[in-house]
Amino acid sequence: MSFEVTANRRRPQTFKDLKGQEFVVSTLTNALKAGRVAHAYLFSGPRGVGKTSAARILAKALNCEQGVTPEPCGTCTSCKEISQGTAIDVIEIDGASNTSVNDVRVIREEVLFAPGKARYKVYIIDEVHMLSNSAFNALLKTIEEPPPYVVFIFATTELQRVPATIRSRCQQYHFRLISPEVIASLLREAASEMQVEVEEEALSWIAKEADGSLRDAYTLFDQVVSFSEGRLSYALIQEKLGLVGFERLQAVVEACAREEVKGALDLVHEILMSGVSVEQCVVDLAEYFRALTLVEAGIERESILGVAPSRFSKSVRTAFSPAQLERAMELILETYRNIRYSLNQRYDLELLVSRLAHLRRWVSSEDLVSRLERLRAGLVGGAVQASPPPEGAPDSREEGAGPRSPGEIREAVLARARAHSPTLQAALSQGQWRIQGRRVEILFSSKAPLALCEEQVDVIKRLFEEVAGRGVECVLGRMRGQEDRSPGEDVQIEEPVEQVRRIFKGEIVK
Ligand SMILES: [Zn+2]
Repeated sequence: MSFEVTANRRRPQTFKDLKGQEFVVSTLTNALKAGRVAHAYLFSGPRGVGKTSAARILAKALNCEQGVTPEPCGTCTSCKEISQGTAIDVIEIDGASNTSVNDVRVIREEVLFAPGKARYKVYIIDEVHMLSNSAFNALLKTIEEPPPYVVFIFATTELQRVPATIRSRCQQYHFRLISPEVIASLLREAASEMQVEVEEEALSWIAKEADGSLRDAYTLFDQVVSFSEGRLSYALIQEKLGLVGFERLQAVVEACAREEVKGALDLVHEILMSGVSVEQCVVDLAEYFRALTLVEAGIERESILGVAPSRFSKSVRTAFSPAQLERAMELILETYRNIRYSLNQRYDLELLVSRLAHLRRWVSSEDLVSRLERLRAGLVGGAVQASPPPEGAPDSREEGAGPRSPGEIREAVLARARAHSPTLQAALSQGQWRIQGRRVEILFSSKAPLALCEEQVDVIKRLFEEVAGRGVECVLGRMRGQEDRSPGEDVQIEEPVEQVRRIFKGEIVK
């Protein structure tokens, strides 16, 4: 049985089949409907998104025996020959291998002869940016005043390398990357044609890997279908191609979030023993942290993230500050650059994971400066803790903070909430706060701000921990009395702070 690759088998034959390029298609078909035929077209865009297919469909539209039409019949001799690549009046030239001025001279002489059978003589020149400068000049003379029966269709992945003199003489169409959703739906069709049962997760993985190129998606699809035996699952892809997999990777990051270096390294060892390469591990970590950073920035679309946001565990989502996530990306990208010169790639990966396991202690230089500022302000005001910090590795977030009054904590938390989302800050500032030691209680007189805060209780807790150190207990609720108090006046002063104030004869500013 002969096997035709999916990209060829599913090559679009009509403009309607050209998925993901709706803008190009509607402009082209409208022009054809109005009978406007240009002498030269320039199709630009990334590879594997349908430029050559569109050129062939356009050739059919121009030469269909039914007349120039946006919907070529596909059944007449001309349409059939173009589909099969045997039409003598549709000439396909690969710009990459015909770059010289002589090649273009041949074209110049050829165009003098009218088409043999068809209405138009169509030249499709792929990768046109590869032509030499003198070839471009020769070509320019032809497209300036072509015989009425000649149409050029140029395709290029590098528009900026096509001289402006050529570009300005063409009708230009820009092709886009195809969205993962469209790619996944086309793969689903291909799978059902081949009677392969396929898991959604496997489809999304292929769509993500293809990076917007439908041709790459089909190529990868053929590759994984070849070992699927009629049933394609993500687990199988993972096993055959040596991928880490989201869950295993998340287990490593969760261990890092708990600052368990040993646990994280044990998991990495298991992953490597299952046949995954160090490089793949680093790449997957980069993808994981990229998606996590985007989720924390409020991006929910799976097509951008490459994974459903709900798959990130709560413990991972609440563990790191935005600055720490950025730091993680820096560390991972640095490791990726380093591993190719490495003594032993595994050492680099282990170093990376150990650093990630200390990520929660990492403080950005901006943060450090602001802490020093606070410390300095505290020294001037005489309110700095005299005794050394307690034993047992205090959280770095506490260092330099000094004792803070509930008012200060409230201000700092609100400032951070504002940076996270102004709505959250607005909601929080409506509450009545009671801060006692490691426990914070925020009571609301109305339902709406309470509901909003309850949704984001993990974020609120994290903001508190950033300000006051780890282990904060956060309680949200309704006020018993319903009278509204003005925000700001409702911070209750806790006992120890009152004592400190008395001892230092200080004032609580806020
Ligand atoms: Zn036809």
